[in-house]
Amino acid sequence: MCESRVTVLDWLCVLRLEQYFEAFQSAGLVTLRQCRDLRPDQLEQMGITLPGHQRRILASLNKTHGKSDTYSQLGQLERDQRLEETGNAHVLQSKRPVPIPGEEKPQGSVYLPSSGKLSIPTKEDSSPLTAVIKMGWLDKNPPQGALYYQRRWVKLDVDYLRYFDNDKDVYSKGIISTAFITNVTSVGELKFEVVTNNRTFIFRAESEVERNDWVTVLQDCTRGRRPRSTISPSSPLTPEYQGNLELRGLRSKLYTVVASDKVYLYKNIEDYRIGVGITSIEMNVGNVKETDRRCFDLTTPYRIFSFIAESEQLREQWVDAMRDAIGEALSNREVAERIWVEPSNSLCADCGAVKPEWAAINLCVVVCKRCAGEHRGLGPSISKVRSLKMDRKVWTEELIQVFLLLGNERVNSFWAANVPPSEALTPSSCSEERRRFITNKYRQGKYRKYHPLYGNQRELNNALCINVQCSDVLETLSLIFCGADVNCSTGMASWPSPLSLANAHSQPLQAELISHNLNTEVVGDMDPVHYSAPTCVSHNGFLFKTASMARAITERKAREEFSRRWCTLNDGTFSYYESDKNSNPNGALKASEIVCLAVEPPEKHGYDHTFELYIESERLYLFGTDDPDSHKEWVKSIAKSFIPATAEPLLRLGFERIGRLKCKDGLNLQTSKVGWFALVGSTLHAYLADSQGEEIHLRKLNELSIQQDNEVLVLVERGRTLYIEGERKLDFADWCTAIQAAAGSGGDTLSQQQLTETDIPVIVHSCIGYITQCGLTSEGIYRKSGVNSRVAALCERFRRDARSLRLREGEHQVDDVSNTLKRFFRELEEGLFTSEDSSTWLGAAAIQDESMKISQYQLLFNKLPHVNKATLQALINHLYCVQRFSELNQMNLHNLAIVFGPTLFQTDGKDYTAGRAIEDLIQHYTSIFEVDEQQLKRQLEEITAINQMREKLNTNTEPGGHFICTVYLEEKKDTAEQHVKIPGSMTAAELVCEVLDRRNIMVKEKEYWSCWEISDKEEMERPLHYQERVLPILHSFGTDSHLLIKKHVAMDAMIVYLASKVDASKHGMMKFREERSILGLGLSSGSFHDRYFILNSNSLRMYKEVRSNRPERDWPVKNLKVYLGVKKKLRPPTCWGLTVVYESKKQEKPERQQWYLCCDTQSEMREWYATFLSIQDGLQQTRVSRVLPDARHGNVSLIPLRGSENEMRNSVAAFSQDPLAVS
Ligand SMILES: [Zn+2]
Repeated sequence: MCESRVTVLDWLCVLRLEQYFEAFQSAGLVTLRQCRDLRPDQLEQMGITLPGHQRRILASLNKTHGKSDTYSQLGQLERDQRLEETGNAHVLQSKRPVPIPGEEKPQGSVYLPSSGKLSIPTKEDSSPLTAVIKMGWLDKNPPQGALYYQRRWVKLDVDYLRYFDNDKDVYSKGIISTAFITNVTSVGELKFEVVTNNRTFIFRAESEVERNDWVTVLQDCTRGRRPRSTISPSSPLTPEYQGNLELRGLRSKLYTVVASDKVYLYKNIEDYRIGVGITSIEMNVGNVKETDRRCFDLTTPYRIFSFIAESEQLREQWVDAMRDAIGEALSNREVAERIWVEPSNSLCADCGAVKPEWAAINLCVVVCKRCAGEHRGLGPSISKVRSLKMDRKVWTEELIQVFLLLGNERVNSFWAANVPPSEALTPSSCSEERRRFITNKYRQGKYRKYHPLYGNQRELNNALCINVQCSDVLETLSLIFCGADVNCSTGMASWPSPLSLANAHSQPLQAELISHNLNTEVVGDMDPVHYSAPTCVSHNGFLFKTASMARAITERKAREEFSRRWCTLNDGTFSYYESDKNSNPNGALKASEIVCLAVEPPEKHGYDHTFELYIESERLYLFGTDDPDSHKEWVKSIAKSFIPATAEPLLRLGFERIGRLKCKDGLNLQTSKVGWFALVGSTLHAYLADSQGEEIHLRKLNELSIQQDNEVLVLVERGRTLYIEGERKLDFADWCTAIQAAAGSGGDTLSQQQLTETDIPVIVHSCIGYITQCGLTSEGIYRKSGVNSRVAALCERFRRDARSLRLREGEHQVDDVSNTLKRFFRELEEGLFTSEDSSTWLGAAAIQDESMKISQYQLLFNKLPHVNKATLQALINHLYCVQRFSELNQMNLHNLAIVFGPTLFQTDGKDYTAGRAIEDLIQHYTSIFEVDEQQLKRQLEEITAINQMREKLNTNTEPGGHFICTVYLEEKKDTAEQHVKIPGSMTAAELVCEVLDRRNIMVKEKEYWSCWEISDKEEMERPLHYQERVLPILHSFGTDSHLLIKKHVAMDAMIVYLASKVDASKHGMMKFREERSILGLGLSSGSFHDRYFILNSNSLRMYKEVRSNRPERDWPVKNLKVYLGVKKKLRPPTCWGLTVVYESKKQEKPERQQWYLCCDTQSEMREWYATFLSIQDGLQQTRVSRVLPDARHGNVSLIPLRGSENEMRNSVAAFSQDPLAVS
């Protein structure tokens, strides 16, 4: 497109400066290109002197040759000219062309085919007017013999020839009904006449072509109508209302006609009769409003028509008539009326505004105009917005039926099942609120009622296929918007899609719904918050309330600070009123805003019974009453109102605190989930998203700490860590305090202590462990008294936090510890034997018949509470061991009984009954407690080994009597030797930390340091489980084994492998070799053979081959100890071997076997090894009552991370890696 072809004339016409054409011609300028360098002085010379005209010309040139904004316009002009040249029949270009932006508007005339298919180019025509047939500039003859022709913009449509002052006007100066045009003829000087019954209009075109064209289209347009107009010379309008109306600003009244969806203005009734009027007003853009007694305004975007009726009464009729016309203009009243027949459809589904006229046809909601605007903002892939009144075509009978069948109310039972009242819209909500709500509601699906199959794609699809065969359209809606795929395969060849299935089963409404959702975008990620509609509760009565607060209540609130309030709980809102006579509440809390309800201990405040409500916006409300029953009832009702159905069992608990918290656990530390928690005593009951309820025994936690600037509460259980996040400060801080208090030693009874996993108080466990390691050879153990102040300090330290105290030899004295244990039992509330039954225990000691006595003790033992039972057994076991070494410690059965009788029975010790009972218990320990003799024997052997070791060390070099052993760091050499004091309680993890700390070694990310048992002779090694106690291992060593602290390089790979597994099992081929001694000579025989192995949580089975159905061998996994490595002497076929030691302790003679396995690859070996470890650890965990979600993680013998959440996250990041990528 080059401006060289644009003529100066065309250009000047665009600028409306065609009068200068001759001047340009004289200057020899014919094309636009020739004008490009024109300067103002040249224009002067050409006689163009008016500054405005000069500016217009220069600006246009500047644009054309400069930024080329006009290029496209001019390019269009050129294309049009080419069309004209090629004789295109549809677009005839006049000499007067096309607009230049910022300059004048178009002056050409555009011929449009009468089909009206071409869009109408000017903006005022965008309203649905009758299609314009032809429009353009014409001169019109002056009325009543005036001198000058008037320039008019003229438009022709089927009904009217209209003329306007200019092309921007919406309202014409005059209209001539085509029905009344009797003749159109060309006359001289480019003119043509339009003749009506009694008036003739003369127009002048600018060219012959133009004139002829107008004549042709006018004749075409009027010809078919002529018979009608001649037969009946009256208006073709069928007016609904007509008469004289005054238009403010005009002297004479106008004859006004309201017909269908338009209002026509005529000078007088005669003009109306001959079809010659002033203008018509499209009522689709109109609005009518009464302004004064007789006045009313008809407002359109283009003009306000202020009318004055002849009387007030007439004004009313006019207003009514015009409003009807507007309704008519908004056309499909019928659809809207029918949709509104369903009562809930006459209120906007989103904001509740009345008479909503729009609908989202795929979401099945009827909404108001403002909400529809926000729906449109979501895009048609989410919400298909249609007008009830204008989009006639879309409203098929089926779609209308869908909307009647569902209705806003039922549909909202899905879409808005869980709207927090604070987020709900009202008709006056601002656009920002609307946008947020509508996005949440439909794009995020935040308030949806979750379909029970949610998350299970296959089930959802199946359910959809089944459901579309019946008439439950709401269910289909719920399925689709909970993720069912409307385009899924039904698996049936004849009806492959849900749509075809619906049709086949004559379910047109289902088909209709589906058809509008074929391309619907699947709703965004489900909000992890599962709100299920709480059960409907209502309750009311008087309560006493203090002012609400933004911080925790620390001080006691006196009665005077409370005011009596009438309180109601209804429809999910808790409201309080000045009195029961008031109807307006002083305040209201929506149940969905409540995040925590805390029941306070009686008499904490001025009122006997109080409770606190915490709400989302960090405020706290305190309520009280003196009536315990009313208190209980309120607590129950309020809790019921905000706890979702999924966590309902919590309501049955006698909780001190209940509410929701955000938390993370398991492998998924990236996303938090909502958990519902209730604290009952020392047990935290939790319902985490999607999981069954679980109990966390706070006193049994391995660790409890608040991290990250008081924002995360970390609860470490064995094998699992739970992070509770402080989403809100106020309630979180109180939860932390409550949980910490509940996790500590809550009191003086046995069950209130921090407990081990086997339900023994940590203090008892620690003391017994310490004495076993360090005190069994101490003369007069338990008889000698310690230093009183130190004993008192130890007791206090244990009371504060028993778990954090580690008894260490050298630091703590044996006699202090033994007396701490005695003092604990002596001061124990209720006593070990319980105050109720202790006399019965003492009575049993008097029974003569031994077997009767034993069964009586057994009976009483089984009657004890769980913790007492476990503690008693552990203590008697300990005392049994102590007296077995009486030749060293001088504490025989009798001596021990003298000490422990009065201590445990809390008597003054004046008579020996209590001592006799203890003596019985120790003496008959194995029968009363049904002890496994083998196990006891092993235990005693272990103790013997410890004692021997101590003796050896004591008599040898160590003057302080410390128990010291040698471990190596990274490799076994003299410089890597570490001498570590090892108390009996030290675990492998503690040993590792101790050595690393001592050598200042920082543990880096993904480094797993472990303590290894290395056998030089067997050329095998194994990492100790992090909780394994080191000392017994050391004692079991021969001289050819040692402990080595080193990194577990394969750990990462093993974790990744385990993370990829659903359960801990493995099967596959390995090469097997057995160690057999020939003739007792200890010579090994045989070689490696291929065998098929199946390893599961119970056993390792070996099959001759894959197809064998009977195993050759079957070993219980718990009796296997698996080491890495195989002696080279055995000539293993690959270097990826395992040595397996099988030890059976059950039989009279302990059995020990050793055999070997070889894998083809390193990763194979690691997989087998990881599976073994994970299974064996699982066995250790059987004491833990519930299945831990991330057991796989805790299973492997890695050091538990006690670091921040970030460190934790880094260490589990490996889980997300591709398990196949393991090297
Ligand atoms: Zn609305």
